[in-house]
Amino acid sequence: MSLADLPPLREVLAEHGLLANKSFGQHFLLDLNITRKIARLAEVGEGDTVIEVGPGPGGLTRALLETGARVVAVEMDRRFLPLLGDLAEAADGRLTVVQGDAMKADMAALADGGPAHMVSNLPYNVGTPLLVNWLTGPFRPTSMTLMFQKEVADRIAATPDDDAYGRLAVLSQTVCTARVVMDLPARAFTPPPKVASAVARLVPLSPAPDAALVSAVEKVTAAAFGQRRKMLRSSLKALGGGALCERAGIDPDARAETIDVAGFQALARALMG
Ligand code: SAM
Repeated sequence: MSLADLPPLREVLAEHGLLANKSFGQHFLLDLNITRKIARLAEVGEGDTVIEVGPGPGGLTRALLETGARVVAVEMDRRFLPLLGDLAEAADGRLTVVQGDAMKADMAALADGGPAHMVSNLPYNVGTPLLVNWLTGPFRPTSMTLMFQKEVADRIAATPDDDAYGRLAVLSQTVCTARVVMDLPARAFTPPPKVASAVARLVPLSPAPDAALVSAVEKVTAAAFGQRRKMLRSSLKALGGGALCERAGIDPDARAETIDVAGFQALARALMG
């Protein structure tokens, strides 16, 4: 059977007797028009390798395979393995399924030492920790096109003075350019989650920032946004307070939410000495 001949996803789920399991954060996209749109936004195609976390019934996986890309999919829930095996057969060797926890997976090994794009409809319960792992880890994906709950996507792409601006925006935008490229209502998923979702697209900056700078940015933003209503001279006290701000050329009376990403990088560099 070829990809084009595969039955609709609802039929495949019924045939395998599969229902969503909440403990795995399972909310499926069964409309191929939507998953094809995500694959287009990811800008992947023939010759590309894509790592997908949580293929589940494989709706996004099918759309990614239709672009001609090779897909390595990491799924924790063993119940989906037979169904994904059928999809792998239809994809003529372009789909590799790995059973396991993406939080513990070695992305460079999954990419076989080469470049890879990450494209996923992430499980809500581990979406943010997975992204932070990828932003701070040794593997640099070519791009990341990731579905989160909308509130998290907004926090990734936020700018100073947005309510959503905080640690995740500064870390994401220190390592990548970040944009929200698609919004999806809860009803697009089966079963629908309680909140809306959105796709964030992150493209790593070139050249990559030093690992030491990224780590210092994490320290400074944890302190500054940990007490976001306080002035920096007070919230950053343990890291050098007013003197640190002055070395970085940042107003010590300012509050975290008004400092842009470059400002936090200046504070991080001052911390590194
Ligand atoms: N990609 C599918 C879709 O769009 O219909 C499913 C998305 S669903 C939101 C998240 C998927 O991630 C589920 O299949 C779930 O079993 C899987 N998952 C949850 N936690 C995981 C983890 N730690 N590692 C790998 N997969 C995980």
